[in-house]
Amino acid sequence: MYHNTKSEQDCCGCFACEKICGTAAVCMQKDEKGFYYPVVDEEKCVHCGRCEAVCPMEKNYVGVSAEPEIYAAACRDVRVVKASSSGGVFSALCKWILKQDGVVYGAAFDENYAVSHMRGTTAEAFRRFRGSKYVESNISAVYQEAEQDLRAGRTVLLSGTPCQISALKAYLAMRKIPTEKLYTCDIICHGVPSQKVWKDYLDLIRAQYLAEGDQIQSVNMRSKQQAWESQELKISLKNGNIDKEVRDFSFNTLFHSLNLHRASCFHCRYTSYQRPGDLTLGDFWNFRQAKLSFQPDAGISEILVNTEKGKHLLEAVRKDLQMQEISRKDSWQAHLEFSSKEPAGRRAFWEEYLKAEVLSEKEQVLRKYMKGSLLTRLIRTAGPVLRKTGLYTAAGKLYRSVVKR
Ligand SMILES: Cc1cc2nc3c(=O)[nH]c(=O)nc-3n(C[C@H](O)[C@H](O)[C@H](O)COP(=O)(O)OP(=O)(O)OC[C@H]3O[C@@H](n4cnc5c(N)ncnc54)[C@H](O)[C@@H]3O)c2cc1C
Repeated sequence: MYHNTKSEQDCCGCFACEKICGTAAVCMQKDEKGFYYPVVDEEKCVHCGRCEAVCPMEKNYVGVSAEPEIYAAACRDVRVVKASSSGGVFSALCKWILKQDGVVYGAAFDENYAVSHMRGTTAEAFRRFRGSKYVESNISAVYQEAEQDLRAGRTVLLSGTPCQISALKAYLAMRKIPTEKLYTCDIICHGVPSQKVWKDYLDLIRAQYLAEGDQIQSVNMRSKQQAWESQELKISLKNGNIDKEVRDFSFNTLFHSLNLHRASCFHCRYTSYQRPGDLTLGDFWNFRQAKLSFQPDAGISEILVNTEKGKHLLEAVRKDLQMQEISRKDSWQAHLEFSSKEPAGRRAFWEEYLKAEVLSEKEQVLRKYMKGSLLTRLIRTAGPVLRKTGLYTAAGKLYRSVVKR
């Protein structure tokens, strides 16, 4: 694990080792790229091994099911689908949790658009969890709060990336917290970018486009204004419209370049059908091949039902969804089989980025590396075409055997 190797790829920044430590010997500290890593105070450390046992990057991880039932689904309420990243299934789960007087933990923007996991008990709070935020979410606060909620007998839904869900479950198990009323939902994930670059990007937008008295009113990293599949970033200002400028210099394009990803994302051990959550949610990109009885109004979710609890949860929200079982073949997407490949230029990107002192220099580096490597660009361009022609899965498997190994 990271404590021994000090290799960036061995830490997913989940905070579990800091939280489980009984002597406060482990402290998560932010590095220059904006990612958290644990630092151990050797004087306080009693070498109990709890930090290693809880680590979701340790090799002992086993997911909950290799043969999940798989569904395509979309909320019947089109307004919810439009406001969500995929088919809005997550919002349907939240609605049910609200009826149980339960608690949801999800990723939300704060007032400065930094992303962290928050606790929510109201429909208003749940709306803040809606939509993908394409930056690493800080889950530090969730551990103790979820522990208290579960001890108090509340129904709890934890959502997040698979490494986060795996970490939270391991922590709760080691703390012997009752989990009968715990539901977990992980997302299909292809990596989390640096919060530091996201903050710099927003500072750049503010410096360039915000007139005196203006402010950013909302950020949507999966705007469906053009189309669900276009995955556009939309930044709304109080006065004026900067859609074109944001399209030309988009954080989403930077995200897809893969240069901003956390190092561990290139070695993700959760890119498989063996998931840590009761349910897994993603985009159902292969909808054209699946011959669905319903069409995507504004997005379709892919749902993996990994446990009996997941089955129960999905059954409880079924009436709110249009839903159809799909085959494993149709459900296939790259990040259910392999992790993102580290781009050749990533090291150079970070070297140049960290040398840049002022915002204008940072912008130059971001623009230079925005589109990613030739391979990344090729995959981004070919993806939608391959999906339309039904060749996406075959191409993905070919990519795996030739490039990824
Ligand atoms: C970084 C990232 C990468 C992704 N990559 C893929 C992919 O490769 N393939 C794919 O099919 N789907 C991917 N997704 C998932 C997809 O975008 C949707 O989040 C998912 O399908 C749920 O959509 P929904 O319509 O049901 O609900 P929504 O309301 O759109 O989803 C909200 C859910 O996402 C969680 N969430 C949002 N941002 C974050 C974050 N930064 N960290 C942790 N959890 C977060 C919220 O807590 C909530 O559970 C990714 C999501 C993220 C955040």
